[in-house]
Amino acid sequence: PATSMEELVSLCKRRGFIFQGSEIYGGLQGFYDYGPLGVELKNNIKAAWWRSNVYERDDMEGLDASIIMHRMVLRHSGHEATFSDPMVDNKKNNKRYRLDHLVKDQKADVQARVAELMGADPANFPAVVAALNASPAQASQALRDAGVRDPFSGEIGEWTEPKPFNMMFKTTIGPVADDDSYGYLRPETAQGIFTNFKNVVDSTSRRLPFGIAQIGKAFRNEITPRNFIFRVRELEQMEIEFFCVPGTDEQWHEHWLEKRLKWWEDQGVPRSKIEILDVPGEDLAHYSKRTYDLMYDYPTLGHEEIEGIANRSDYDLGSHTKAQGELGLVAKVEENSDSVAKLTIPHPDTNKPVVPFVIEPSAGVDRAMLAVLSEAFTKETLENGSERIVLKLKPHLAPIKVAVIPLARNKEEITSVAKAIKAELQGLGLGRVLYEDSGNIGKAYRRHDEVGTPFCVTVDFDTVGKGEDPSLVDTVTVRDRDTLKQDRVKISDLAGWIQARLR
Ligand code: ATP
Repeated sequence: PATSMEELVSLCKRRGFIFQGSEIYGGLQGFYDYGPLGVELKNNIKAAWWRSNVYERDDMEGLDASIIMHRMVLRHSGHEATFSDPMVDNKKNNKRYRLDHLVKDQKADVQARVAELMGADPANFPAVVAALNASPAQASQALRDAGVRDPFSGEIGEWTEPKPFNMMFKTTIGPVADDDSYGYLRPETAQGIFTNFKNVVDSTSRRLPFGIAQIGKAFRNEITPRNFIFRVRELEQMEIEFFCVPGTDEQWHEHWLEKRLKWWEDQGVPRSKIEILDVPGEDLAHYSKRTYDLMYDYPTLGHEEIEGIANRSDYDLGSHTKAQGELGLVAKVEENSDSVAKLTIPHPDTNKPVVPFVIEPSAGVDRAMLAVLSEAFTKETLENGSERIVLKLKPHLAPIKVAVIPLARNKEEITSVAKAIKAELQGLGLGRVLYEDSGNIGKAYRRHDEVGTPFCVTVDFDTVGKGEDPSLVDTVTVRDRDTLKQDRVKISDLAGWIQARLR
């Protein structure tokens, strides 16, 4: 695996996985563009998630809801009021930081001093942040007295009181910018699932338990986007809302925890690298009854959230439904006089309308990319003493499945065979197969090691009967990325040979 974020950033830029957004104008912080190989890897991760969570189950439906949503959706979801992070400004240079990030970035003794000044347990970081947040005036003083430094300038800052900052992007809809003509870019894909609950139930005749899966962009105006694609302002999520009978929710929560860990394992992210955090009560989001955060051990960053698996109780459907009073909701919800739909489903035993509980496994695509890349990243010393970087990606995730290389790029008899092989392999529907005639074969192998191409197929003079060994006619060399073993395979067997090994 990678040992630092830097080596991943460098590989991603060098080989065309990920670029800074708007780079030619100096870049835009918190936005990234996925390049020729990045888009393939990203699509493969999303396809693997969809396959496992929609196609391979019998209790799931898919959805692709719009990104811009009615402001009422985000009002009744609770996001207008509570989707905010406390932030503090440094009056010396007008830099703004997320309170928890600011404290986390300090040296251990400074953190301990802040905790002491706030009367909190220094070993319980979330409690320290909660204490700071709860008494803003005292917090400002404590940050100063503890000597909290500005991460940008390195100097001790002069800190304001923590203030909440709403992270939703708001945008004008239509030609007139009056007070009512705005909407929000969704901060999570989940809300599109809740608002379509009735549509999906009515159009599919689903009964409890069942789930709805969605992959799509979400937007968060993060105060301090950082750590490459770990924390960005435009992100992509893979989310499931699994609806179940109240009382069975805890069981389903465990079910999804197991399923999700297994899925990560199948993508090359082993269990041993993921810590399960049973989020303590005071840190739970406004909707959550209980949440497991999967904390992956990122290079340089350490354990950080890659996926949250929340028991959202009946909070969301209960918040968005009309006639809340008649439904016996368990969650505490704000009154809703705007919704026109009753978000219930018949209880499977009694047939009486019930608002189901929801289990939500929510994973970030960008954070998945980073983890998958990090696990695949390998530096090896070869027998001849030279070093190679190789991405040992699971074959189903590899951006390029096979590179077909003609040994001489201006010899028609060789290139025509290579092109025919490329076309045949492409037809298998494995994903991208590349015709690679960019030059030197050694360089091509090195490049394909670095981008994780499982197989390189080389067409040479022997293949076309112009070599020394007549027994090699109509055969090609197949080089294995991981073992470096080279096999001579008959062209007529090649498709089957590759297919068997990419499965
Ligand atoms: P964090 O505490 O790191 O800000 P969060 O708890 O706000 O994350 P959730 O609201 O649970 O995150 O979102 C679900 C998933 O979406 C996360 O597990 C993560 O993979 C992804 N995600 C959330 N915010 C970002 C972001 N700014 N950039 C990239 N991915 C994100």
